[in-house]
Amino acid sequence: MAVQTVAGSTTSSAPAVDLGPAAALSCRECGERFELGPLFACASCFGPLEVAYDLPTGSPEELRKRIEAGPDNIWRYAPLLPVPADVAEKPNINPGFTKLVKADNLARELGVTGGLYVKDDSGNPTHSFKDRVVAIAVEAARAFGFTTLSCSSTGNLAGAVGAAAARAGLRSCVFIPHDLEQGKVVMAAVYGGELVGIEGNYDDVNRFCSELIGDPLGEGWGFVNVNLRPYYGEGSKTLAYEICEQLGWRLPDQIVIPIASGSQLTKIDKGFQELIRLGLVEDRPYKIFGAQAEGCSPVSAAFKAGHDVVRPQKPDTIAKSLAIGNPADGPYVLDIARRTGGAVEDVTDEQVVDAIKLLARTEGIFGETAGGVTLGVAKKLIEAGVIDPSLTTVVVNTGDGLKTLDAVSATSQATATIKPSLDAFRAAGLGSA
Ligand SMILES: *Cc1c(COP(=O)(O)O)cnc(C)c1O
Repeated sequence: MAVQTVAGSTTSSAPAVDLGPAAALSCRECGERFELGPLFACASCFGPLEVAYDLPTGSPEELRKRIEAGPDNIWRYAPLLPVPADVAEKPNINPGFTKLVKADNLARELGVTGGLYVKDDSGNPTHSFKDRVVAIAVEAARAFGFTTLSCSSTGNLAGAVGAAAARAGLRSCVFIPHDLEQGKVVMAAVYGGELVGIEGNYDDVNRFCSELIGDPLGEGWGFVNVNLRPYYGEGSKTLAYEICEQLGWRLPDQIVIPIASGSQLTKIDKGFQELIRLGLVEDRPYKIFGAQAEGCSPVSAAFKAGHDVVRPQKPDTIAKSLAIGNPADGPYVLDIARRTGGAVEDVTDEQVVDAIKLLARTEGIFGETAGGVTLGVAKKLIEAGVIDPSLTTVVVNTGDGLKTLDAVSATSQATATIKPSLDAFRAAGLGSA
């Protein structure tokens, strides 16, 4: 194609902005390359753009040592991310390096013998995995001179953007569906930016933001998941890096990941592929499983039907952080699940609640509804024999249960309320007797 020659010549000169090893943006559909900038769609075919790198060329041993000597956050992987080399010295919320919990109690309950791990991303600064993607988007916003940080959000992203903007000294204005959980609304508002509830669902919020981007009202705004989306997405690779490093520089055999837009799942796969290419982990097969709630299961439905296209749905589920009825990365998720021999599955809201309580009861981890979706699907696939219990399995808990209290509040209450006396305690049938 003639256009590719033109695009090729733009990438051979040094990029105008310093985003470390990021060399260009490239189209996931046609491969055309563009200079680094606040672009998200290919000018030729409208395909989504992603960051292309000049990755480190030294020995794997050296790179591994350099990473291990880095800070206890995502910046230890700065050589593999679209961020300037001095990123750790700038004001950022520094997410990542969350716990990989060896979940032996849960493994016993589910009959998993090959090692079961929970990657617990509720430990991030605003208690969800969204801090990872936003931290990268902040650096892109700085590089492109944006002064306002914005997003369309299912809840967690709004809080992450609010916090990151506050810390970076940027203005923020974020958009959410008007009917989100109280915990997410407060968490998004407390950082002092503007928070706007839109009367509609996430897909309406997203459409609104796309219009705002093309309007003078939105000028100078970096929308982390729209015009900064290629950079934002790269933050999810750090989940893959951390999981492998925490397993002793080894790929898991199986991993279960929740799907909203599907970005996180596709970037975890990209992260695994990079580690293989860099020689940081042994090249072994791994299977990626995607998890959705039945009330918003467009990708799962397409997977089960054997379709390549994802038919949009109108979401109706308690897993609001995953309630994207028209997931941008849906087709790529299908490709990855099929290529790796994984699957995409869904669970009912009731199973989500059961799984939240199962994780809390067995491992002392209180995940949000998205975590319930992921563990619920893991359990379902183990029981169905689709996930092999004799292999190493990682389940990603992406958020904190304190933000979605409503899901469990009806069934998680005080065992009893009594007068402060031993007699009352005994009368209630409590204690060791
Ligand atoms: C946003 C979100 C996800 C998934 O996001 P993708 O759009 O698929 O990358 C998963 N869990 C939680 C808690 C989230 O907030």
